[in-house]
Amino acid sequence: MMMRRCKLYYSPIQYLLPILLVVTVVELLTSCGCSNDSSSLEVDVDAPGTIISRFQGYLTINTAYPNPNYLEAANFIISQAKSVSLDFQTIEFVNGKHLVLLKWPGKKPYLPSILLNSHTDVVPVEPHKWSHPPFDAHLDPSTGNIYARGSQDMKCVGMQYLEAIRKLKASGFQPIRNVYLSFVPDEEIGGHDGAEKFADSDVFSKMNVGIVLDEGLPSPDENYRMFYAERTSCSLIIKAFGAPGHGAKLYDNSAMENLFKSIESIRRFRDSQFDLVKAGLRAEGEVTSINMVFLKAGTPSPSGFAMNLQPSEAQAGFDIRIPPTADPESLERRIAEEWAPSSRNMTFQLVRSKKKSEYPNLTAFDSSNPWWMLLQEAVRSENGEVGKPEIFPPATDARYFRERGLPAIGFSPMSKTPNLLHDHDEFLNQNEYMKGINIYKSIIKAYASFDEYPRDDVSRAEL
Ligand SMILES: [Zn+2]
Repeated sequence: MMMRRCKLYYSPIQYLLPILLVVTVVELLTSCGCSNDSSSLEVDVDAPGTIISRFQGYLTINTAYPNPNYLEAANFIISQAKSVSLDFQTIEFVNGKHLVLLKWPGKKPYLPSILLNSHTDVVPVEPHKWSHPPFDAHLDPSTGNIYARGSQDMKCVGMQYLEAIRKLKASGFQPIRNVYLSFVPDEEIGGHDGAEKFADSDVFSKMNVGIVLDEGLPSPDENYRMFYAERTSCSLIIKAFGAPGHGAKLYDNSAMENLFKSIESIRRFRDSQFDLVKAGLRAEGEVTSINMVFLKAGTPSPSGFAMNLQPSEAQAGFDIRIPPTADPESLERRIAEEWAPSSRNMTFQLVRSKKKSEYPNLTAFDSSNPWWMLLQEAVRSENGEVGKPEIFPPATDARYFRERGLPAIGFSPMSKTPNLLHDHDEFLNQNEYMKGINIYKSIIKAYASFDEYPRDDVSRAEL
């Protein structure tokens, strides 16, 4: 078991001790993963303790909103890039939001490149609800779990890419294709100042990307999860109008009554979708989710609301996620006819993110997409099993790459791990983290050795 960073202090007596003691100190350092840059003592950079220590180093950088420390994260990643001898550059599409781009040049740079993407920002925390401080990266010695915000989403992945490359370089492997690593800001607040601007940039077009890997989700069982698409998010506000009336009066068509009829109907639809998931007939990403996020009604009074008055207006807001396999037009019809019909004095506003291109937001997950097949094989070669291809329930940065017609696969190598993304006590087990490094080693090796050209352009047009 290892400690996080620790400093060693030398007393004069130590200098008098025989060389044997120094050797012992070196061994101790290596086994506990401590680092001491100011000393001439060599640290084994490949020791498991040191690898975990580097992961913890990244996790301790507070990149949570509202003030993610992007500069510190960028400096950390660059220091890692230097230690692995990768080319690096920092780009600020928006001031203060650093994107770090690393490159491992391939022998045939004209072939479409591989992009390994990860985001550096994390969602906020409620520290008092955590068992361990969320930016201490505490390693529980009894379980091997590392507790930290970002341990699953997705600092693990960013560091695993780097560790896999470190191992591949040490083994003498040389990529055929250029391998890029992007560490992007802003994902948790929509990615507009991060991956979206990056995907639209000249820097990106010059990279000639052929395949993007981005984040996935942990799996509670032994099957790793692979995502080929994600749901589109919409927001819906429905408004109901009706004659106001005395609080004591029973009458038809009040705004509240009209709104509640709609809410009941929406709830029935929600249940029908959720039942499919509960019955195991569909995965979460394959159904349309709808959840009420606000309710607004009532006539304000100095003490709160007028209690003897039925208001003339009422509204409710909903978060809707639509899988790419669903028909958005049929949903719109349902809203107009059942959830907010004008016949019941209702109006609605549906805001859907605009599609930037005609490319469907799907990546092929069959033999027409060699990247999908290679990824599956690479996972299996590390004794991992892959579950059914899935649609990612919320949005990720992968959509910005898919919108450009590029294949993008969501994959985070975490099996036998509860899904704690955005939750309290987010953790990743150190053994699972180490296994993930070997899986990426196998994937990057397979991708960077893939010497075929023909399908890239064809599949880009198709996907
Ligand atoms: Zn994420």
